[in-house]
Amino acid sequence: MTDSLSLPAGPMGQWPQLEPGWVWLCGAGPGDPGLLTLHALNALRQADVVVYDALVEDTILDWAPQAERVYAGKRGGKPSAKQRDISLRLVDLAKEGKRVLRLKGGDPFVFGRGGEEAQTLIQHGVPVRIIPGISAGIGGLAYAGIPVTHRDVNQSVTFVTGHDQSGETPTSLNWKAIAEGAQVLVIYMGMKHVERIATALLDAGRPADEPVAVVCNATTPDQQVLETTLARMTADIAASALEPPAILCVGRSVLMRQVLDWQGLAAGQQPRNLDPLNRGRPAEVS
Ligand code: SAH
Repeated sequence: MTDSLSLPAGPMGQWPQLEPGWVWLCGAGPGDPGLLTLHALNALRQADVVVYDALVEDTILDWAPQAERVYAGKRGGKPSAKQRDISLRLVDLAKEGKRVLRLKGGDPFVFGRGGEEAQTLIQHGVPVRIIPGISAGIGGLAYAGIPVTHRDVNQSVTFVTGHDQSGETPTSLNWKAIAEGAQVLVIYMGMKHVERIATALLDAGRPADEPVAVVCNATTPDQQVLETTLARMTADIAASALEPPAILCVGRSVLMRQVLDWQGLAAGQQPRNLDPLNRGRPAEVS
């Protein structure tokens, strides 16, 4: 363990400089501070102000002790800063000549309105840099022992948001087409409308016993994973104390957790099933 983090030599020997008047729009990953990128750490080191979201851990902010902290959280259903206010606040801070770090959970361009914020900044003549992050729908599932692709399961992944700007299940989504076409579904913000989502998928013909995982607070010390099925998920979630933020994963990749729950293994558990997809041969044999 080390309590001071130093950056190794950067690309071309140097890390980019966060100049006054710039905004760096940066992903903080799903929670575990170790999942930050080195570009994110470089940004934290230089920022005058960090504008951060609800899902960004304090430890990460502590790596920018010099910076002013501005909370711009938006959590479903709770009173929160308006997107327009957040975007314009970023413009103002940049125009004041601050070095601005806009830190968002996961990846800024995955269901994070990073696209809108960056567009507003550029429309106002503010220079930006985009720093991608590990998205909860990939890294969060990996922490639960669920590979988002696996050769024996899927050759595609469908990322879906469970509610749109109005807070409703996205009406623009063709759930029937998704149900028919998606091999594995990864649903962000799905807890509020879980019943509607499950019903839509079942009505469109997905099997009732299709495996589902609900991964809450992924990659944090509070991570919790519920394994269930499409038919049971609504009742099982209701009966559990599970709360958002959560990623829902629908598909046979969830079965892989029976062998790949590496956190459980590290805690001394035995693998539940070494061959959960019933391949009948070792994994290294194709
Ligand atoms: N830009 C983010 C997503 C923002 S939308 C990303 O790329 O991950 C917010 C949703 O992301 C939450 O409602 C939840 O579905 C998911 N999410 C973010 N962090 C999470 C975490 N640590 N555990 C589980 N789900 C998470």
